[in-house]
Amino acid sequence: MAVHTTQVGIVGAGPAGLLLGHLLHLNGIDSVVLENRPRDYVIDRVRAGVLEQGTVDLLMAMGVGAGVESRGLRHDGLYISFQGRRHRIDMAELTGGRAITVYGQNEVVRDLIDARVATARPLYFEAEDVSVAGLDTTPVIRYRHAGADHELRCDFIAGCDGFHGICRPSIPNGDLTIYERSYPFGWLGILAEVEPSSEELVYTYHERGFALFSMRSPTVTRLYFQVPPDESIDKWTDDAIWDLRTPALERRSLPHALREVGARAVADRPVSFDVCVKGAPQSCSPAVEQQLLLICQEALTNAVRHGSPRRIDVELEYGPKQVSVRVSDDGRGFDPARAEQATGHYGVVSMRERAAQVRGRLTIASKPGNGTRVEAVVPVV
Ligand SMILES: Cc1cc2nc3c(=O)[nH]c(=O)nc-3n(C[C@H](O)[C@H](O)[C@H](O)COP(=O)(O)OP(=O)(O)OC[C@H]3O[C@@H](n4cnc5c(N)ncnc54)[C@H](O)[C@@H]3O)c2cc1C
Repeated sequence: MAVHTTQVGIVGAGPAGLLLGHLLHLNGIDSVVLENRPRDYVIDRVRAGVLEQGTVDLLMAMGVGAGVESRGLRHDGLYISFQGRRHRIDMAELTGGRAITVYGQNEVVRDLIDARVATARPLYFEAEDVSVAGLDTTPVIRYRHAGADHELRCDFIAGCDGFHGICRPSIPNGDLTIYERSYPFGWLGILAEVEPSSEELVYTYHERGFALFSMRSPTVTRLYFQVPPDESIDKWTDDAIWDLRTPALERRSLPHALREVGARAVADRPVSFDVCVKGAPQSCSPAVEQQLLLICQEALTNAVRHGSPRRIDVELEYGPKQVSVRVSDDGRGFDPARAEQATGHYGVVSMRERAAQVRGRLTIASKPGNGTRVEAVVPVV
């Protein structure tokens, strides 16, 4: 067995282990980092994406912030959304310029690995059978690497191997106090290769629980929604996710649901709102009802948020071959061509995509100073 010595033996090359290794290096302290997974696995592992200001400041101060500075997406605010309404929290304004930054944990890990390699200090991937001993006398880490057994004698061991690692259960009885709170739900995370439809994060509470709209980059969206903690991932096929019906349509007709989302959108505001149904209501497929309702909800939210209208009317018209929904307001209007480019603000692209998903089309008529009319027409045969 080969015997080595170091000041700090670090188990785990996640963000904690790598950051600690670099901090120690900057202070002239020796360390060895041992990771049981391959390098590519550690870099590709999808996890966090949101860095608080303190983390960004630390990365910059340590000289490993070039990536986060050039590729991170700085957000000065975020949205909290509940009861059908979205509220923006301007964090930079409220905290004297502090923000959050969207930058994938895997990018942070990649930057830290590069920094570690540049220092020429030891970092070993695919270390097998890692174990720690002598924690209350002379700490040692034993492991196998490249087919040989090693013993690393340390002044200190830093257990940075996460919740399921070997260090946590190795702490002597009585030296560890666990504070734990388990919540009766889990989050299902989706990584989608699609341009984010909002420029800032949206934390939502709705009838089905929590949901988070987030992103990883200008072309990758990250979404979470609440599921039971023991949910099997097999249940969530792509189709099951697309088929998620909004709770507003559960046990309610479309006109009823439109009245409900409209009333919520204008609540506490000096805006009058009405829904008018034309033609003989007919049952449409759940997908058509769902998309029409969500288009309407987006149009109502936009009208209230950007248009300052006094009145909003929703017209639902059933024809023999198609169903249309029109959301008209007398607000300040806008230039639709400009809104198409500012997708994050007006959700025009997402309304168009919703209409297209049920073979329908969306038109927007608006002029600055002259109100807005959003119309979706969808075939029902
Ligand atoms: C889906 C998800 C989303 C998240 N989103 C966010 C977010 O947006 N913002 C945020 O701040 N946090 C977020 N987190 C939390 C964040 O990912 C963790 O806090 C972070 O990974 C903890 O870093 P760590 O280095 O302590 O542990 P880990 O990242 O778990 O790293 C531990 C390392 O130790 C290695 N290891 C394990 N056992 C051994 C062993 N026996 N020998 C050697 N090596 C071993 C592992 O392979 C791993 O590389 C999220 C977590 C998840 C799962």
